[in-house]
Amino acid sequence: MMRKIKTKGIIIAENNMGDFDKMITMLTPGLGKISCAAKGARKTRSFLLGSTQFLCFGDYLLYGGNGSYNINSCETIEMFYDIRTDLDKLRYAVHITKIINDVTTENQNSYKILQLFLNTLYVITYKNMNLDFLLAIFKIKLLSIIGYRPIIDKCANCKNTDKLNYFSILYNGFICSECSILDKSKIQINDNVKMAIKYIIGSDSKKIYSFDIPDEDKKILEIISNLFLNEKLDKQYKLQDLF
Ligand SMILES: [Zn+2]
Repeated sequence: MMRKIKTKGIIIAENNMGDFDKMITMLTPGLGKISCAAKGARKTRSFLLGSTQFLCFGDYLLYGGNGSYNINSCETIEMFYDIRTDLDKLRYAVHITKIINDVTTENQNSYKILQLFLNTLYVITYKNMNLDFLLAIFKIKLLSIIGYRPIIDKCANCKNTDKLNYFSILYNGFICSECSILDKSKIQINDNVKMAIKYIIGSDSKKIYSFDIPDEDKKILEIISNLFLNEKLDKQYKLQDLF
């Protein structure tokens, strides 16, 4: 059954098809990650030329169903221009998109993932934030959204609420000093790092980038986020050079 579907979406991949067409991958709140054909999108005067580019966010009118869609039209909401013109920003945005691509599928409610993704792209575009710190926050928030929310209000092993001075990937959360001997790969955390993790997990995606901690604590947060993501998604993520 072919039908018309109006949805918000962001382009997370684009591939050329034939001489003038494109096949794009779009993340939508309700349909999840879908593939769409954009017929004629590479013709110079096509109204789909801009709106089918990588990271374009807009209101799309699609035609199709059952995993096969065509883009009919689009009203662009945000193009994230500053990311395209800054190679460092682009590098982080590409990396984040790769992770987003890995955790999304078709027919999945992706509202929260999309919201986090868009807020992250806004911060990369419009704020001058330390991008390694941003990436660490993004990873921890994403994991908590997709089902790997760490235990942070008590020891993830013995349920004690005192001396929660370590983060454990093994036990999926904070662990106390006594239990810390059970996990060789635990990471010691101070109050700043604890507060940061609690804040990231407990706050709306719009607010997660609005706090700061000393540089040495940022480094600890980065280490935790990398180990946590690689373990849960069973993949060694590395920030790649673009060229
Ligand atoms: Zn314990």
